[in-house]
Amino acid sequence: MYKKVHLRLTALCAGITTAIMIIMSLSYLYVSESGLYKNQYNSFINDMNTITTNLEQQSIISMEWLSKMEAQGNYTLFVMDNGVPFLYNQLTSLPESNKYTLLNESLAAYNNMFLVDTSSTSTPYVSYHVEFEFTSSANQEKYFCGVTNIEKGSSQLQVVVLSSLNALRQQITEQRLRFILINIIAIIFLFLFSYIFTGKLLKPILVNQQKQTAFIASASHELRTPLAVILSSAECCMDAPSDKQEKFLKTIKKEGLRMSLLVNDLLTLSSSDNQRFSIKKKPTELDTLLINSYESFETLAKEKKLSFSIDLPNDTLPLCNCDPDRISQVISIFLHNAISYTPENGKINLSISYKKGCFSISVIDNGIGISDEEKKKIFDRFYRAEKSRSTKGHFGLGLSIAYEIIKSHNGTIGVKDALPNGSEFYINLPISY
Ligand code: ADP
Repeated sequence: MYKKVHLRLTALCAGITTAIMIIMSLSYLYVSESGLYKNQYNSFINDMNTITTNLEQQSIISMEWLSKMEAQGNYTLFVMDNGVPFLYNQLTSLPESNKYTLLNESLAAYNNMFLVDTSSTSTPYVSYHVEFEFTSSANQEKYFCGVTNIEKGSSQLQVVVLSSLNALRQQITEQRLRFILINIIAIIFLFLFSYIFTGKLLKPILVNQQKQTAFIASASHELRTPLAVILSSAECCMDAPSDKQEKFLKTIKKEGLRMSLLVNDLLTLSSSDNQRFSIKKKPTELDTLLINSYESFETLAKEKKLSFSIDLPNDTLPLCNCDPDRISQVISIFLHNAISYTPENGKINLSISYKKGCFSISVIDNGIGISDEEKKKIFDRFYRAEKSRSTKGHFGLGLSIAYEIIKSHNGTIGVKDALPNGSEFYINLPISY
């Protein structure tokens, strides 16, 4: 499922960027190609101007000048005097058959395209030239063709200049190939990048999903035990004589209460996950709250033969803007744990201090202590250290609930070693959050 979503997101992400990149590349290619074409056409027109001006000024047209012009622009020149081809035409590098086919084709195209008005050419030294593009049907090549007509008295000089577009076409083909290559490389990188990027995006979702699955598995596991006891007790109760039924009913009630506690814890955590954790803040006397907690746990501590003390500052504490029930819940979790994990004759101390707008509440015991490795995990849901697994009524949810409550108060929660042994659980609460 995750892999499928990952691949789909990669395809979507890379697909959109690839489409944008291809559209932009094609637009650039189009602009660049038309620029190349226009440049070549303009330079051809310029050369035609030069050739025409020179021909107008020259009284004798030298072969040397013609071949120089041909070499300069990579052109093919045909010169005709009153329609009679010049001797020069025979020297052009094209094969004999091609040479005249090309000339005839270009002149036919010229005559087709331009109407030549011979009536207005009676003035000596009148000249004009035209340029156009045409495709030779003989060799399927494209050419720029320029035709210059110069009138010198009674003689009419006609020059046909052909410039092959082969080089331009090759340049454009090379440019297109370069673009395709660059685009292929870019698409590969885009897909790789999108795969890594979407993987990173999805990671928290995957972790969350794994946590949820583990949470549901642990919750089901914890619920299964009391449920099994309830079912078996109910069965025994039905078969037992009425004077023995009370024992089973008591077990059913005890396990039912255990389940109810667990369900309450699960609901608290679920509401914190859904941001529906209700915090009703009000100005609270934390010292009074601590005394109340102390009194609630005094009997339990005595039962376990634990020495339980409370330390309050001599000065009156300022009021803390917090949810007294929730903070009381955190202190109860700490005290319940301290009593559970401290052997008989141990010591537990509950204290509060205030400094620079921050209250510090701590519960110190000299019990079994917590290893550094476990310290990192005890705030995780359903985590219970191996040695405390057998402790009844502990689901490994207390500290994770405490963590959520303190987080919603913008406070901090932690644990450190107590000296010489045992643990110290503490919370720091801002005076107002
Ligand atoms: P539990 O319901 O199991 O106590 P908690 O989330 O409250 O769950 O605590 C998680 C684990 O942290 C406990 O299982 C226990 O291993 C350890 N722990 C908590 N408080 C103490 C303590 N005061 N001394 C030693 N270990 C503790």
